[in-house]
Amino acid sequence: MKRTIIQNCKVFDGRNPVVHRKSVVIENERIVSVDDAAAITATVGDRNDRVVDGEGRTLIPGMVQAHWHGSYEGLDFEPPPVGLEKPPGYLMLIAAKNARLALSRGFTSVIGAATGDALDAQLRQAIDDGVVEGPRIMPCGRWLITTGDSNDLPEFWWWGITAMGSQRICDGADEFRKGVRQEIKEGAEIIKLFSDSGHALLYGADFVAMNDDELYAAVGAAHDRGKKVRAHVTAKANILKCIAAGVDILDHVDGVDADCIDAMLSSGTQVCPSLYLTKAILDTIAAADREHGTETINEPFFVTMRRDYDHMCGILSIANDAGVCLMVGDDWGTVMTPHGDYAAEMRLYVDECGIDPLDVMRWATHNGARGLSMADELGSVEPGRLADLVLVDGDPTSDISVLADPSRIVGVMVNGRPHAGVFTAP
Ligand SMILES: [Zn+2]
Repeated sequence: MKRTIIQNCKVFDGRNPVVHRKSVVIENERIVSVDDAAAITATVGDRNDRVVDGEGRTLIPGMVQAHWHGSYEGLDFEPPPVGLEKPPGYLMLIAAKNARLALSRGFTSVIGAATGDALDAQLRQAIDDGVVEGPRIMPCGRWLITTGDSNDLPEFWWWGITAMGSQRICDGADEFRKGVRQEIKEGAEIIKLFSDSGHALLYGADFVAMNDDELYAAVGAAHDRGKKVRAHVTAKANILKCIAAGVDILDHVDGVDADCIDAMLSSGTQVCPSLYLTKAILDTIAAADREHGTETINEPFFVTMRRDYDHMCGILSIANDAGVCLMVGDDWGTVMTPHGDYAAEMRLYVDECGIDPLDVMRWATHNGARGLSMADELGSVEPGRLADLVLVDGDPTSDISVLADPSRIVGVMVNGRPHAGVFTAP
């Protein structure tokens, strides 16, 4: 069996500071050894081995994009109903393009955060079958929302559109159970709910999107069949409710406080703060104001957004230091957040929230593997783990900005299969 030997590299193992001068051996889909460079030299020259000179670069676990809408492309402030921008076949081509883009940027896994027409599950099948290249996908389906939720097209009610695009309307516990089971039938492994509004949505954190019966029914139906649940949630009371109900991943959590952090630690709930979209919106509005002499940024919607953003920037390091399982992933695919700029979110946490880049890399790797429920298989560089590996020119655990330069992602491997760069050399 042909092995791949990556010599003379630094290694970030997903948790600890980098170690120098290592050689990593991959056989089939798994890492079989991580040794001092000198210990592995005996194998060099074996004609059955592919030997890659790491040239002192840093080998990291494949990163996980934990909030993924692959079919989003160029969404604007007033998009058409999400998931209906184009026909499903066209949206699938966009999803395939963005999946390959994520892979090239070092993200070897993504966790779906909602898509229409079972695009995630179909794309995963096509990737597994070798039809197209892409990361491993934990598929999500349509988001489940109640009638009149801010995602229920309030500005287009006379169109009479329901259960279309990226949304499925459910009212009452039974409809949520049925909705969850239908999404699972169509391939979802994680179910997306909206506990409230806020975080760039229309109605704000006070809006009650689901009642307790609906929340518990949805989570129970998903867990009964071994699937995870994620929820868009911003208000403190709803964060606590979602944790109590057993939601696995919380998105955004703008109203998080010490009580929420305690609850997250007790329950092991995972969190995608996803602050980059709100920063991008605020920056865009401020720039437009400067250009046109307007003061849109002072409207209540944006004042609230700024307040929430500043609050999150302040409390995120407290949540991180306390040990909350934070992950990277954001709403990529708007005009302000184009797919491919994934490192911008990670830089934000370092530059604006004061998080150590080593910790942000832990979020992207070790914690991401927990989000996938694959912490025993992924998110680390050690013998026995699946070989999802990325070779980076530079050390992102000390300078995270190196990830923003695509030319510095010099090799990507998924499940031991080389996908790009130096790993594809004969
Ligand atoms: Zn989203």
